[in-house]
Amino acid sequence: MSWIDVHTHINMLEATPEETLRVAAEQNVNHLITIGTCPDDLPVVLNLARQFTPFVACTLGIHPHEAALYTTEIEQWIRANAGAPEVVAIGETGLDYYYNNSPREVQLHAFRAQMQIAADLKLPIEIHTRDAEPDTMQVLKEFSGRVRGLLHCFTGTWEMAKFGLDHEFNISISGVVTFKNAEALRDVVRQVPLDRLHVETDAPFLAPIPHRGKKNQPAWVVHTAQVVADLKALSLADLERATGQNAKRLFAKLRL
Ligand SMILES: [Zn+2]
Ligand SMILES: [Zn+2]
Repeated sequence: MSWIDVHTHINMLEATPEETLRVAAEQNVNHLITIGTCPDDLPVVLNLARQFTPFVACTLGIHPHEAALYTTEIEQWIRANAGAPEVVAIGETGLDYYYNNSPREVQLHAFRAQMQIAADLKLPIEIHTRDAEPDTMQVLKEFSGRVRGLLHCFTGTWEMAKFGLDHEFNISISGVVTFKNAEALRDVVRQVPLDRLHVETDAPFLAPIPHRGKKNQPAWVVHTAQVVADLKALSLADLERATGQNAKRLFAKLRL
């Protein structure tokens, strides 16, 4: 078996990338996508992906928390580098109205601009959305038919999930699904078609049970996978196969 963690931040872990990959491989987590979030970490994730290809791929984008740092200059840098074989998607971008670390209008501007990059370069996009469903739906609608991607660390309503699915966005499930109070999310997982589902860690954040509260790592995606497999009444092997195929279909440049 071989798992892929479709959303992680291995540059934010205390362990070296070598150690992170070694521990992950012990759990058959053999591929991961490490995610760009801000101008400083974009060259870092790109270098990691180059150094550890094909086990590590990356995305290039500016997180909604950092949307105030989205400039013409950084946009040009993303456009100039996104053609590299290791860059499998744009993101993470999106809207976070829970923290509002950047003003909403600024987040919306950076989100739309990155959707345009994904459309122009024909790359998928990883979207972060929290407490911002109406505006997220609005932007997905504007780019309907032009951009596909992933709603990462999905914790929203079934209405949001359905809207994403109808607009060519797959649903990625993090360790949150293992939490006791996540019954609504488990209901969403039951309803998402198997060929549109992914698992991720978002490490170092959101460690799944039984590691909740610790710093997360890609190896632990297997705990999330076990809960998702149970919800779908599948064996782990069947879920591994399905999520692997889904990742291959969505991220065309991924070398699995
Ligand atoms: Zn995120
Ligand atoms: Zn993330």
